[in-house]
Amino acid sequence: QSEKIWHKHYPNEIEVEKEYEEKPLHEFLKQSAQSYAKKKALYFMGKEMTYEMVYEEACHLAGYLQQLGVVKGDRVSIMLPNTPQSVISYYAVLMAGGIVVQTNPLYTERELQYQLKDSGAKMIICLDTLYPKAASVKKQTDLEHIVVTVVRDYLPFPKNTLYPFVQKKEYKMIVSPEHNGETHVWKNIFKSEVPAVTEIDIDPKEDLALLQYTGGTTGYPKGVMLTHYNLVANTRMSVDWMYKSKKGEEVTLGMLPFFHVYGMTSVMNLSIMMGFKILLIPKFEVEEVLKTIDKERPTLFPGAPTIYIGLLNHPNINKYDLSSIDACISGSAPLPVEVMERFENVTGGRLVEGYGLTETSPVTHSNFLWGRRVPGSIGVPWPNTDSKIMDLAGEGEAEVGSIGEIAVKGPQVMKGYWNKEEETREVLSPDGWFRTGDIGYMDEEGYFYIVDRKKDMIIAGGYNIYPREVEEILYEHSQVQEAVVAGVPDPYRGETVKAYVVRKEGSSLTEEELNEFCKQHLAVYKVPKLYEFREELPKTAVGKILRRSLVEEEKEKQKKL
Ligand code: AMP
Repeated sequence: QSEKIWHKHYPNEIEVEKEYEEKPLHEFLKQSAQSYAKKKALYFMGKEMTYEMVYEEACHLAGYLQQLGVVKGDRVSIMLPNTPQSVISYYAVLMAGGIVVQTNPLYTERELQYQLKDSGAKMIICLDTLYPKAASVKKQTDLEHIVVTVVRDYLPFPKNTLYPFVQKKEYKMIVSPEHNGETHVWKNIFKSEVPAVTEIDIDPKEDLALLQYTGGTTGYPKGVMLTHYNLVANTRMSVDWMYKSKKGEEVTLGMLPFFHVYGMTSVMNLSIMMGFKILLIPKFEVEEVLKTIDKERPTLFPGAPTIYIGLLNHPNINKYDLSSIDACISGSAPLPVEVMERFENVTGGRLVEGYGLTETSPVTHSNFLWGRRVPGSIGVPWPNTDSKIMDLAGEGEAEVGSIGEIAVKGPQVMKGYWNKEEETREVLSPDGWFRTGDIGYMDEEGYFYIVDRKKDMIIAGGYNIYPREVEEILYEHSQVQEAVVAGVPDPYRGETVKAYVVRKEGSSLTEEELNEFCKQHLAVYKVPKLYEFREELPKTAVGKILRRSLVEEEKEKQKKL
């Protein structure tokens, strides 16, 4: 890596030639419980837990899971929003020797069933409100046990008394004897005596910590196999990147869901490794988040563009003091430059763009938090990570400045897709290079840029159009809150450019005005031929706009015509 051109940008403080510890991921919770025993690890709706408490509960639950029969390599699904239970369960499953299967609480029964079947999960840990979904798919899957918890279990007094009766009927059903010992109530688990957890021998480079499903917008999701070492390495890289952060002293805003790999690494694992306090936000309610920032003073705020946009557009933003925020990394989708600048003005902190994928644990590139930053670029490869641009024919490396597919190699690259050897071979070469499916280029300074997702490129009348370029222009319009551009079927051009736009509150922007604006800034073939104004855009759990689902919708609409 030392000859690579991006290397010259590394500030002296960042060590690049580094071996990462070959330890199981859960070892870091144990270490923090020793170093920061009485420090606060979690904050949840007014209640706080110390590192010691989180560790003890994780050990207790791990002992219980082993008692239920979890052995090394068993898959255990966790279907929880960001709550103390989601953190405790995650580390408990790992300690018990299991593999975590993160499951989105918004999954429909069908999606849940697919994921449980594909992963072969033996157990699921979920909220009472999700219990009916889990119970209804149990027979069609390998599930043997369901662990149920209620939000109330971790609410402070008097909130815990205000929350009580919501699911009372269901809760009664769960604890009823006819469940034959297959359903387990969180509270009772912690009241019961359980044998101490048996330490499991883990080979961090071989043994899986996580099966993380991805690629759900088209085709069937694939389970990405991430080892303990993959996750430890990527978390350590994040630590290097935050080299000015003080151990045990930062406060992280836990907005990104932990069931997505980005929130899991950049919020949960990073904070646990470093002894930071995590403010758990189970749901993105803008005003609540602003209040939490104002009151609890987070210093780190990993997020995604739509999260920052959502906060910036709140009419009451100026009522709140956001000045505690020091550092933010935006990932998962392109960060419009205008959003970066406005967010920095409001908070006084620094917001930099990074990039990654589920297959890479996730981060592979980013701009320097306290060093050089190039707006519009995803930055340079992270420490011990190599990256190159493959020419689009797939034959070799593209020249500097030429567009091609981004490939990466490093200790954070997945072991492969679960039970999908052919799909694995398509993206992962025997010498460890992973093809990301993203189109981009590298400039002469070694900074990388994303042009678009390979499969999102629009081909209209023979022209290649990258939706992102058109979106950047739309975002420059002062009355546009959110925008996404997609290629929709067109009988003459094959595909045509369509823009889906959410206007700012109170705006009466018209299609004609927006079209005029695009014509001023874009070559004529890139100007959208179709516009649709919407109240909101469909998004994933981390706020990535689901472009594919809009295309599918349009296809369905056209079929009916
Ligand atoms: P996921 O596996 O859900 O994390 O999605 C990974 C994909 O998100 C990548 O392949 C990119 O297409 C996209 N992505 C992540 N970060 C960025 C970024 N900074 N700019 C543009 N696209 C991004």
